[in-house]
Amino acid sequence: MHEVRDRSPGGRRLLSSTDVGNTNRALLLQALADHGPSSRADLARLIRVPRATVSTIVNGLLAAGALEEDEPQAPVDGIGKPSRPLWFGRDAALCGAVSIDAGAVEVALVDARGEIRSRSEHALPSSASQSEIELLVTAAAAEVLGPHAGNLAGVGLLAPALCDHEVGTVVACTVVPGLVGTHLPALLGDALDAPVFLEQDVRALAVGERWFGAARGCEHFAALQLGVGVGAGIVLTGHLLNGRGGYTAQLGHTCVNVNGELCSCGLRGCWETVASTRWLRAESARRGITGGRSTTPRRLARRAEAGDLAAAELLADYIDNVSIGIASLVQLLSLQLFILHGEIVHAGEMMRRQLEQRVIERSLPALSEGVHVVFSELGQGSGPLAGAAVALTRHFGVTV
Ligand SMILES: [Zn+2]
Repeated sequence: MHEVRDRSPGGRRLLSSTDVGNTNRALLLQALADHGPSSRADLARLIRVPRATVSTIVNGLLAAGALEEDEPQAPVDGIGKPSRPLWFGRDAALCGAVSIDAGAVEVALVDARGEIRSRSEHALPSSASQSEIELLVTAAAAEVLGPHAGNLAGVGLLAPALCDHEVGTVVACTVVPGLVGTHLPALLGDALDAPVFLEQDVRALAVGERWFGAARGCEHFAALQLGVGVGAGIVLTGHLLNGRGGYTAQLGHTCVNVNGELCSCGLRGCWETVASTRWLRAESARRGITGGRSTTPRRLARRAEAGDLAAAELLADYIDNVSIGIASLVQLLSLQLFILHGEIVHAGEMMRRQLEQRVIERSLPALSEGVHVVFSELGQGSGPLAGAAVALTRHFGVTV
């Protein structure tokens, strides 16, 4: 095969045929991830390359076991040859997911089809020191992933923290402070003989939604975590936004009230101070609502639906507060799809519709058409699937 190795007058290397082949391969894998099981003809149409090129790429991936052919299916119009849909091989790219959160670490083995093969959860005290965390997490990972050491496509390591991807470590973390400066990526990599990819949890959720959730096939959207803290993972033109030192899309710390409460970050009036469940609970107690500090968006929505006027008023205020940050993303990036995670996803369809409507009302009319606010459907699998998606993205060399 002839490779073009000339350099252009500007010093940029021209694309070689290998580069083009790798790009087409990545496009094909991306199309499969976006559209699910697809025939060769579908893939040729989706990535706009000749059918023969698709066959060449597919044959290589089939031989390597990365893809499998499903049973022949009759053509939709009843004419022509039956097609054999291609899909990721069941054992082609087993991934590990290690998801750290306040109080727990969850470890899972996940395949490229999004099936969680095994999982376990262990307590992880938020006050644990760096070395204690490293010991606990390494042991928890070894229990589930150890039998597959050397055969994993990669491991997604998720932390509720700001992560510097170039250095591969945690730079700031208020939830589990002992994570700052952790050596876990190297420790897990050595123990499992696999590449380990550290990622902030909410950014990983965006990648997980792209592979396995509501954002399949979507190039512009945001995943939002609405819990004690508030954060966003943003995908724009198919790429996860990634800025200097991990400090990207600090949506929770944009000011929504110049005279507002002091935030945990040291600034005043951040969106997080009025859109977190911490605000909801404190406000519930202050207003003397039944349930007080133990309230959740779900309990509040139920009380409101049952006719509790004070609960309905607080719910409306919470919805309004949450809508401010989402509408900011509409204005800033003209996003249309917002996928919510956290306690809010249990609040019911009525609340979702009210929130979506409030976001539309707060958006510029020219941008508000087509805005959708949805609750994530990944459920209990969100951590494992997000971790696996981070690893799969790197393994297959696709974007996001
Ligand atoms: Zn703040």
